Amino acid sequence: MSDCIFCKIAAGEIPAEMVHTNETVVAFRDTKPVADVHFLVIPRDHHESAAEMAVVDAQGVADLFAVVGEVARAEGISESGYRVLTNVGADSGQEVAHVHLHVLGGEPLGPLRSQPG
Ligand code: 5GP
Ligand code: ZN
Repeated sequence: MSDCIFCKIAAGEIPAEMVHTNETVVAFRDTKPVADVHFLVIPRDHHESAAEMAVVDAQGVADLFAVVGEVARAEGISESGYRVLTNVGADSGQEVAHVHLHVLGGEPLGPLRSQPG
C-alpha cells in the first residue's frame, strides 16, 4: 500500500527505531510510548487486521507472536510480564490500518481498561 506509513517503515522509507527485523516481520519502538517498554510488531505484508491476516496467512500471524517473544526476552520483560494488544476499527481507536501488535511492559500495567463503561 503506497500511502501506508507502516508499509513505508517496513520498506525502510521512513525511519524507525528497530528492535527486530527478519524476512517477514519488523518490530520497532512506538514514537508515543504509553509504557516504559512499548514496541510494535508488524508483518512486512499489508493487512488491515490480525483477524483478516489470519484467514490468508495464519503462519504469518504466528510469526508475529514469535517475534513478540524474542524481543520481550531481549528487552528483559519476559520474566516481569507484558501485554500484547491489537486495535481493530473505529471503536478501538485504531489509527494505522496496517496490522500491528502493541507490546507493553517494563512496569505494572494496571487493569486492562481503567474506566469501564
Ligand atoms: P493504533 O492506534 O493504530 O493501534 O496505534 C498506532 C500506533 O502507532 C500509535 O501508538 C502511534 O504512536 C504509533 N505510530 C504512529 N505513527 C508512527 C511512526 O511513524 N513511527 C512509529 N515508530 N510509531 C508510530
Ligand atoms: Zn501497510
